[in-house]
Amino acid sequence: MPLLKVENITAGYGRERVIASLSFHVNRGEIVSLLGPSGCGKTTALRAIAGFEPISEGQIVIAQKIASAPGMTLPPEQRSIGMVFQDYALFPHLTVSENIGFGLRKRPAVDRKVQIAHLLDATGLDGMGERYPHELSGGQQQRVALARALAPRPTILLMDEPFSNLDVELRERLSVEVRDLLKSEGISGILVTHDQHEAFAVSDKVGVMHGGEILQWDTPYNLYHEPNHRFVADFIGQGRFIPGVVRSPETFDTELGLLHGNRSCTKAIGTRVEILIRPDDLVPDTNGEIEALVKDKAFKGAEILYTLELPTGTRLLSLFPSHYDHHLGDTVRVRMDAEHLICFARND
Ligand code: ADP
Ligand code: MG
Repeated sequence: MPLLKVENITAGYGRERVIASLSFHVNRGEIVSLLGPSGCGKTTALRAIAGFEPISEGQIVIAQKIASAPGMTLPPEQRSIGMVFQDYALFPHLTVSENIGFGLRKRPAVDRKVQIAHLLDATGLDGMGERYPHELSGGQQQRVALARALAPRPTILLMDEPFSNLDVELRERLSVEVRDLLKSEGISGILVTHDQHEAFAVSDKVGVMHGGEILQWDTPYNLYHEPNHRFVADFIGQGRFIPGVVRSPETFDTELGLLHGNRSCTKAIGTRVEILIRPDDLVPDTNGEIEALVKDKAFKGAEILYTLELPTGTRLLSLFPSHYDHHLGDTVRVRMDAEHLICFARND
């Protein structure tokens, strides 16, 4: 039985529907993300799950108990959830230990002390219990917020863009730490973010949201390799689209010649499509049949990401090992190295 079931929920503000027919499940101990651009309804969905927003259709079931239904919203404190926000929201006049222990006020002092010590240790805040929030860095403050949310041992931790105020390096480190911590404590998590790297680092499953809907609910691997929607293909990872025509379920006629993939395209033969070409699908090869012009380059350390222009003007991205150092305007030769090709119907 899933720990959390979000079933066809609809929610909004006044007459405006912000999320429509949203459904997903979270199993015990699983960590999932809702990933999407700003304004797509992520926070609204999370607030509905937390019990801060009512729903007008569907239901939310937590641990076999209906938590939300039209006309019924169990209050947040009765849902066994913890929440972490982007802005930490620590109590400035309380010490780190007092902040962490805030949700444990009704517990016996000795339990409280043990749990605070455990979380100081688990979140890497050893020795900082007596400090005040203003004496901590942003990363440390977010660790306190995390420890405070975990202290009452919620079954699900809800996190709304928790790392967006941190610099990139710290963001990546903290996301991995949070994942490890939740897994070791056996707590399920829902992360809401617009940052795919964060979502991928933390989650078992990711739901890509757009306009209040989940377009694809899948593993990070499948979202990258088998996007089932044009928006998902565009939003996840890098890549460009090349026009083509379906010749057989595995073959497309394009300006690069006939391209073969090992996935069956469900579109009818003759359909005009767009084929997703990822930067790792196009590799340098001095004997390659494809000739292209270097239009742009971005040094990435071990690799260089080139923007290449085909004779027709179509631009594709290609990852070259870093020692292939070409200049803008150079002509390079490449070949396709893609196992499966993903196509979408073309509207033009
Ligand atoms: P996200 O977290 O993905 O950026 P939100 O759930 O915050 O998206 O917002 C989705 C939509 O709902 C936006 O168009 C936003 O303007 C609107 N919205 C959010 N909160 C409110 C509110 N309290 N009142 C009215 N509209 C809101
Ligand atoms: Mg938001």
